[in-house]
Amino acid sequence: MTNQPAMVIVGAGQSGARAAHALRENGWKGGITLLGNEGVAPYDRPPLSKAVLLGQKTTGECTLYDEAFYRQQGIDLRTDASVQRIDRAARRVVLPSGHAIAYHRLLIATGAAPRKLTAPGATLAGVYYLRTVVDAGYIAGELQPGRTIAVIGAGFIGLEIAATAIACGCNVVVIEAGSRALMRAVPEIVAAHLVERHRQMGVDIRFAVQVDRIVGRDRVTGVKLSDGDNIACDCVIAGIGVKPRTELAEAAGLDVADGIAVDDTLRTNDPHVFAAGDVCSFPHRLFRRRMRLECWKNAEDQARIVARNMLDRGETYSEVPWFWSNQYDMTIQIAGMPAFSVSTVVRETGSTSRVFFALDRDGVLVGASGVGNPSEIARDVRAAQALIARRACVEPALLADRNAKLKSLLAAEVS
Ligand code: NAP
Repeated sequence: MTNQPAMVIVGAGQSGARAAHALRENGWKGGITLLGNEGVAPYDRPPLSKAVLLGQKTTGECTLYDEAFYRQQGIDLRTDASVQRIDRAARRVVLPSGHAIAYHRLLIATGAAPRKLTAPGATLAGVYYLRTVVDAGYIAGELQPGRTIAVIGAGFIGLEIAATAIACGCNVVVIEAGSRALMRAVPEIVAAHLVERHRQMGVDIRFAVQVDRIVGRDRVTGVKLSDGDNIACDCVIAGIGVKPRTELAEAAGLDVADGIAVDDTLRTNDPHVFAAGDVCSFPHRLFRRRMRLECWKNAEDQARIVARNMLDRGETYSEVPWFWSNQYDMTIQIAGMPAFSVSTVVRETGSTSRVFFALDRDGVLVGASGVGNPSEIARDVRAAQALIARRACVEPALLADRNAKLKSLLAAEVS
């Protein structure tokens, strides 16, 4: 250990913990302080909406590293530290007790928080959001056979919870304000394919309808919709999007633009301060725009790069985004940004498996969404990911032909 100030990481989630580890792996010998306020060590969130709710995994089993790891790595993990402010001039973070921790470099990895319902009744008992292990514990207790669950929002959280609740023997109604599911993530045709499966499994999905009121006296008993319908339910689970947790950065005068604005090395407008994961917006070379991603893989990849850049390596972040979701026996794998496309080409890769290729107006492949059996979609999505990285223009007829090997197209024209 040296006497110089520590690397300080605010936010003990996926990105924060992985960055702490990566700092050590990349040779940082000084102190590392990882500050979180969830009261538990950093954990993996993807199982919360699936295995944890199904009782197949405990929240403890979602932990990223055990206590011994932090000790052995010399990472000072504090799980009850809500940073109150960042004093950029003095290069330190200040805790509510007034105690200050000096930093050599600061990483802000505060993630995102669920958007809250604003309809009357939204604060009744029995209304939940899923983000933390505590939330998952409450929701798991609600998913009892025969109960009716009103899920608000047909995004990834909403659809994953709907599938899980069906597996638990619940009745499920999904209420979505938009005209279709997964508006920000995938083209209409992909969303329709998924929604069809949910309906086959018995989910009642309603689109273009708002929640006017959540009904109940002490606890929720129903939901009144803008089309006049009343849905009786035992609980409400809302997955209506998240907001990046930028408050600390804003108060410290850092640039914010739908998330803490960083450059392509994940550095903020203060050279000593970095941001990574759900909380930051960054310029993406491939898509030629600033974007913010809310997914596991992005948190992992950015953590790796940001740690190196906190050590002045100056590496550019330009990974092709990759998401996955599991709903029923279907896997959904998404590479790139299908939502940035103007047209979609479908490849049937199995009786119910499809890969949807997304092209922009110049014919450049910008995304691929595979839905179905993992063994029937993964290879094409992986090849598409490599083609997206090269900004390849691929003949739609080849994309549609299940016998055309995408890997062999990697020499395709690059724009
Ligand atoms: P999301 O993907 O943004 O979906 C929220 C949906 O709710 C949107 O369609 C939204 O419509 C709709 N909505 C907003 N306000 C509403 C209202 N008052 N009533 C009804 N519908 C409303 O967000 P999410 O599902 O909450 O997930 C949170 C984040 O976690 C997302 O970024 C998601 O990608 C991520 N996540 C990822 C995975 C995965 O990768 N497998 C799994 C779970 C969650 P508008 O778009 O019109 O607002």
